[in-house]
Amino acid sequence: MSEKHASYQKLQDALQQPGCPICHIGQVAGYKYLDTLLYESVNDPGIRRKLEDSLGFCYYHSRELLTFPGNRLGAGIIEQHMLKTALNQLRHGNVSSRRTLFSKRDERRKTEKSPCPACMRAEASETRSIKDLLQYLIDDLDEPLRRAGGLCLTHLQQALLISNNKHVSTALIGLHESLWQEQIALLDEFIRKHDYRFRHEGISEAEGAALERSIDILTGERPL
Ligand SMILES: [Zn+2]
Ligand SMILES: [Zn+2]
Repeated sequence: MSEKHASYQKLQDALQQPGCPICHIGQVAGYKYLDTLLYESVNDPGIRRKLEDSLGFCYYHSRELLTFPGNRLGAGIIEQHMLKTALNQLRHGNVSSRRTLFSKRDERRKTEKSPCPACMRAEASETRSIKDLLQYLIDDLDEPLRRAGGLCLTHLQQALLISNNKHVSTALIGLHESLWQEQIALLDEFIRKHDYRFRHEGISEAEGAALERSIDILTGERPL
């Protein structure tokens, strides 16, 4: 399977589940990065140096590191090394905490501090998939993207920045306009039915889910 074909297939698979497909792809890429690191390269000097630059992983990927069954030893080796590095920095008066390094995705970009290596891998994968999405959107991925509920705001903005085809950008905006209007209308009903006069009507499943869905749209589904 060619690389292009493989990444397109990955995008199609991600579009089979509800929610932003680019967030899903980033989550999987970050997870796989940690998986490989734990099983193959905890003691690799090159990886260690990379981790020293960022003082390990962001909050999200540090916690995710603990979810691999039976592999707390690998996590322990990494975190001990990071703590030693932090202590060393502290002694030399140049310590910077993970929190300041990774406070928010956008802030991180602005400050250009060393980002979490798992986030970097995730973002590379996301960018690749956004390019595929733009290339195959019209007449191919348009409908699957609509069924999945569209992109989150962050990835939509990224897609519009990358896109150099006005026709594709217009289609992308149109698709999200109608999807988000739908969520707004569902929330209208959700809010209206909280009024005691209409409470007997009952909130539908879609109206209840619109709250979480709106948060996912606004914040993305790959927490950072
Ligand atoms: Zn997203
Ligand atoms: Zn991360």
